Amino acid sequence: MAVSMQFLADELEIMKERGLYGTIRTLEGPQGAWVSIEGEKVLNLCSNNYLGLCSHPRLAAKVKEYVDRYGVGPGAVRTIAGTLAPHVELERRLADFKKAEAAILVQSGFCANLAVIPTLAPAAEDVIYSDALNHASIIDACRLSKARVVRYGHSDMEDLRRKLEETRGGTGRKLLVTDGVFSMDGDVARLPEIVDLCEAFGVIVVVDDAHGEGVLGRGGRGIVDHFGLHGRVDVEVGTLSKAFGVMGGVAAGSALLVDYLRQRARPNLFSSALTIPDVAANLASLEILEASDELVRRLWHNGDFLKSELRRLGFNTGHSETPITPVIIGEASDAKTFSARLFEAGVFATAIAFPTVPQGTARIRAMVSAAHSEEDLNYAVKQFAAVGRKMGILP
Ligand SMILES: *Cc1c(COP(=O)(O)O)cnc(C)c1O
Repeated sequence: MAVSMQFLADELEIMKERGLYGTIRTLEGPQGAWVSIEGEKVLNLCSNNYLGLCSHPRLAAKVKEYVDRYGVGPGAVRTIAGTLAPHVELERRLADFKKAEAAILVQSGFCANLAVIPTLAPAAEDVIYSDALNHASIIDACRLSKARVVRYGHSDMEDLRRKLEETRGGTGRKLLVTDGVFSMDGDVARLPEIVDLCEAFGVIVVVDDAHGEGVLGRGGRGIVDHFGLHGRVDVEVGTLSKAFGVMGGVAAGSALLVDYLRQRARPNLFSSALTIPDVAANLASLEILEASDELVRRLWHNGDFLKSELRRLGFNTGHSETPITPVIIGEASDAKTFSARLFEAGVFATAIAFPTVPQGTARIRAMVSAAHSEEDLNYAVKQFAAVGRKMGILP
């Protein structure tokens, strides 16, 4: 290996010594309530496949139909020759679903933040207010802007108000961005208060609803619907890779906003469009969500069930307000051992430690899905109890 590349081996070795080198597991069949890993069936408590749509037959059928009609690849960026009728159809239907005037599709939720944040607040005189626990894609999107980034304490409205006051005036634009649901704790942004403050201070509001899409609101219409804030949130960023079970990102808002993003957002100008299978599968997910709220209700039922059972056993499940179920263990090494023992017992649930969560709050993050049966969840609870007792975490 070239000397100039020696750092790769050195750094990976250090990561391994510090226990920071992650094992990346391969699923040998479809995503679902149970998955096949290393030839074993394990109960899956890791995925963001909230509604079990990843392997839903209606998605596969729609993909086949659309691939027969439109082929696979878009062939270009949206602005040149890569906008096909299904892209426009999905944008229209996503906007209607979210009761927004318009929506623009991009390649992923990550790209959606890159499309929105540096495009709306690009300049050195601009200010971006960002929650301390915002997702990495928001942090990177902020880095692509020359704006001053002002971090406020996680969901700390007093801190936010103080920072809005300190930065009042100036000639630039101001934009606030927050996760809708914070993925490590499952708490929900205090959006009504954020919107009130931003209206008072003349600040654009962007909410990244990746974990709220298909989860919060009526029939999974998201955080804006959950709080009844239609028309008061400037940009709803969404992800089609979680509850929708596919891939893709979306930004919804006014027709003017979407017109502007189409012309200026760099992921739309310089990276090709979503493929036809992605678009078709997302259309099928949307049809399923529009037809019934049954899956969303089952997801919440499952989340409530798992949380209450684990709490009854004596586990600390934090302050989640959504189906995300953190099981706080404490030390990173204990959380890792816990996860490894669960896996041996047939339960796949990842350990999450510093720097993703604060020191001393390492945890197992259990992600339930509408696809889990009560029997599945009872199995999980039994294994959590057994490992918890063996490790002395439970009495
Ligand atoms: C998962 C997630 C993303 C990334 O979405 P992808 O569609 O997987 O790129 C962006 N923002 C937040 C808050 C997320 O949780």
